[in-house]
Amino acid sequence: MKNRLLFFLCLVVCIGCKNSTKRNDGKLNIVTTTTMITDLVKNIGRDSVSLQGLMGSGVDPHLYKASEGDVSKLTGADVVFYSGLHLEGKLVDVFEKMGRYSNTIALAEVLDKGSLIGSEYFASNFDPHIWFNIEYWKQITNYLTEELGKMDPDNASFYEDNKEQYLKKLDALEEEVRQTIATLPEEKRVLVTAHDAFNYFGKEYGFEVVGLQGLSTATEAGVQDVQNLAQLIIDKQVKAIFVESSVPKRTIEALQQAVKSQGYDVQIGGTLYSDALGSSGTEEGTYIGMFRYNVNTIVEALK
Ligand code: ZN
Repeated sequence: MKNRLLFFLCLVVCIGCKNSTKRNDGKLNIVTTTTMITDLVKNIGRDSVSLQGLMGSGVDPHLYKASEGDVSKLTGADVVFYSGLHLEGKLVDVFEKMGRYSNTIALAEVLDKGSLIGSEYFASNFDPHIWFNIEYWKQITNYLTEELGKMDPDNASFYEDNKEQYLKKLDALEEEVRQTIATLPEEKRVLVTAHDAFNYFGKEYGFEVVGLQGLSTATEAGVQDVQNLAQLIIDKQVKAIFVESSVPKRTIEALQQAVKSQGYDVQIGGTLYSDALGSSGTEEGTYIGMFRYNVNTIVEALK
């Protein structure tokens, strides 16, 4: 009898937990994946949400696997916001299973598929590096704010205000980026990086973009890839190529060597933030700071 009573009590408590959308402190318990998504939720939710980001600075989302600690964070969350379009390739199964009985939201799903860059490599059939188009980031900001407001109506107008402020900052960023890029002659807009994270960026700002490892870091670059790319660098007289913070730099160094062995000197123009932001607490640890830093680094090195 005692056992049955205990079981009943547990069940009531558990059902109670499932039905509540907020924690005891009144804050939505949010889990995010990439540092870009974490930064966005920080800007909109501020101190009215409780936020845990799974991936840190320098972490590659294509290869990231959930640890045991992550699984308990995920199952304890009121909502999980992730990027989607199979960016988080090794987490997709976990999210899809969770999605059947809990709240997981792939933010990139809000974008019009007709406008996205297609890719055979990803199971989504689209290039998932959508944060390099500021317009898309604004759409995702709107979608996130809407979803937060639905889950937490008491703070909906607070989220809305934060969104308005953030969209203004994104407008200013867009303007600044266009002005900076305008100083780089069009024929010098060739962006060679470790993997193909910058296709949306290239499309928007008129860069030819070539990633040594293709769209995902899960595929290694072959000898032929290195040779072909070395030839392109020489043909186009590209001044600099770029390391990425979330990809080991040996691939780009190998490319630099291949170019040098043919008598042409190409510089390493710096480290770009592609699939992860910089360290938390720094300028580059925010989406806006990361974007500005990348553009300044690219333009400075290619001039
Ligand atoms: Zn990537």
